[in-house]
Amino acid sequence: MAHEHHEHHFDPLAPERLGGPAPDLLSVDGALEQIAAAFTPLEDYERVPLLQALGRVLVEDIPADMHLPPFDNTAMDGYAVRAANVAAASHERPATLRVVGEIAAGRVATQPLGPGEAYRILTGAPLPPGADAVVPYELTDGKGFGGWSAAEAASLATAEREVSVFQSVEHGANVRYAGEDQRKGEVILRAGTVVRPAEVGGLAALGRAQVWVRRRPRVAVLSTGDELVPADQAVGPGQIRDVNSFALAALIAHYGGEPILLGIAADRPEAIRAGLREGVTRGADLLLTSGGVSMGDYDVVKQVLQEDGQMGFWSIDMRPGKPLAFGRFEGVPIMGLPGNPVSSMVTFELFARPAVLRLAGHTRLHRLELWATALQPISNRSGRENFMRGIVSQRAPRDGGDGEPEWVVRLTGEQGSNILTSMLKANALVRIPKSKTHVEPGEHVRILMIDWPPL
Ligand code: AMP
Ligand code: MG
Repeated sequence: MAHEHHEHHFDPLAPERLGGPAPDLLSVDGALEQIAAAFTPLEDYERVPLLQALGRVLVEDIPADMHLPPFDNTAMDGYAVRAANVAAASHERPATLRVVGEIAAGRVATQPLGPGEAYRILTGAPLPPGADAVVPYELTDGKGFGGWSAAEAASLATAEREVSVFQSVEHGANVRYAGEDQRKGEVILRAGTVVRPAEVGGLAALGRAQVWVRRRPRVAVLSTGDELVPADQAVGPGQIRDVNSFALAALIAHYGGEPILLGIAADRPEAIRAGLREGVTRGADLLLTSGGVSMGDYDVVKQVLQEDGQMGFWSIDMRPGKPLAFGRFEGVPIMGLPGNPVSSMVTFELFARPAVLRLAGHTRLHRLELWATALQPISNRSGRENFMRGIVSQRAPRDGGDGEPEWVVRLTGEQGSNILTSMLKANALVRIPKSKTHVEPGEHVRILMIDWPPL
């Protein structure tokens, strides 16, 4: 088993020396429960232009301000008629009607339809008063609307005086009735609805250019470590680039939060305190740190949080990312994520993502899980629940016949928590139970999709 955290500093007496309790060993699901219970949706609303509502949660019920469609209209190109006038029509004995005008979408009839009359009508145009059905042009001797030359089209009103109808139609045929989609006054979208592209379209149909949504949660990120330099600076001896500020900020934005970048704090209590205070001052709803929560001498985040915060230090029965701190700093919820980039991203996915979603008012906090067939042997010697990085795809039925396609998974390669590239190729986490030390090819494994569609 690869040690992830400063084993050269490891001192089993450290918890006592720091005056804190020994970390609780928690299952992933147990930790998730506690986190979900600790957050409630922000009670802070804002009115935003429609497109900015995408991905956010409505805080108002949206009633229809009018019927949709607003008026009876035609679903086909053809002739608006009285069904009774064509009830006896057949190829042998067509019904001949007088064409009294044309109604294109966006126009209205100038006069009601009388007995023995027809209007040429185009899809979406309002049905003229007096008409109760539409005969598609294919059932007539009309040319159809693609069948006219430019010159003919220009003189349509005079080009066609009569139309022969070859078939009867029922009352209401090809008519879309006012209010059949939405009725005026009916609540179409309820508070609590997540605005997806379909909802954006629905809101546009309801004339809502602005809507009330819950504010985006502000999530501040502080990277800790003397070895870190910002991504745009030269890397000196012993130094590495700060990955987590960017990876975590991207995850926050990806899941609908507003990231606040607090930069890098050196491994000194004052530096970490100052960073966290800045996060509080800037209105963070959640503080995230990375690094410094295991048991080494330099794990000062833990020290600061023990002194200043009300914290739980959890040892989560998982890999990667066993240590996790969770509590409050100056009243603001804080999560101390492990330092290894893979560990911090995986623990974010598992523990911080549901917190961000809950603050934003989402109720579906958990990811879609599925089962996939392992394409390779997988071993789990960690003695913990192992979240391995994998690529899930769909495989056609083996027999090439009409069987169902199958979800299959392979790992992205080397799974050490320091191997950032294992995360780059992954679209899923493969969840191997603690008790399962070996998976044979062909066995089913539990999958947490972190990205759709499959790579
Ligand atoms: P720590 O938990 O502070 O002991 O960090 C564990 C490992 O993650 C060490 O190898 C750190 O150098 C590395 N690490 C910590 N923070 C970051 C970061 N922001 N970006 C890249 N690597 C990091
Ligand atoms: Mg560190």
